[in-house]
Amino acid sequence: MIVGEQKPIAEILSILEPYEKLLILGCGTCVKTCFAGGEDEVAALASVLRLALGKDGRKKEIQEFTVERQCEDEFIQEAAPHVKECQAVLSLACGAGVQGMVKRFAKVPVLPGVNTTFIGIQENQGLFTEECQGCGNCGLALFGGICPVTRCSKKLLNGPCGGSRNGVCEVDPDTECAWQLIIERLTTLNQLDNLKLYIPPKNWQPSLSGGPRKLKREDHII
Ligand code: SF4
Ligand code: SF4
Repeated sequence: MIVGEQKPIAEILSILEPYEKLLILGCGTCVKTCFAGGEDEVAALASVLRLALGKDGRKKEIQEFTVERQCEDEFIQEAAPHVKECQAVLSLACGAGVQGMVKRFAKVPVLPGVNTTFIGIQENQGLFTEECQGCGNCGLALFGGICPVTRCSKKLLNGPCGGSRNGVCEVDPDTECAWQLIIERLTTLNQLDNLKLYIPPKNWQPSLSGGPRKLKREDHII
């Protein structure tokens, strides 16, 4: 899932300053799971904004609505009647959701209310960890399913740096050494021979370093 967190209220108030009629639009999938932009967060943010504005003697009309996903046109359409009524949309989706809305509603400002941070998982209740950097050429098969591109602080592909202590990364004491985890996992899977393979320097062209990417599925194009 895409993980993000809501922007600070002061920043949100500042980007909303020029507008009187607003729609706070939530997204009911990834950002809902990470407590940044689902229906509950939309309602909470609307209340906080009304209170903050009221304290300053200002008033704005704030509507609330949440769609299942702001990154899919099918769901974006449901927001159309609400978007029509407002001067600006504060989107609580990830950056893809905001831009999905921008493509659909050319004449209405769509503003980000969330800082999109990474692709990850919920490891424990309230703890989200980054697991994939979308490098475009997944090598997880060689690493026992643990990604050194994302989880090794030095992005090492051919084994550990030697700096870890007690399974902890030398760069950050709060991070497990990815290579320790990879070796333990390969041991469990009886695949330690994978470590004998030399992994050449990674070609970053399929990653974002090669510019914005597109995925074309000819079999799904109508
Ligand atoms: S190797 Fe690339 S695609 Fe696979 S998990 Fe790591 S960053 Fe993501
Ligand atoms: S200690 Fe482990 S995770 Fe940290 S940089 Fe070295 S190999 Fe990578």
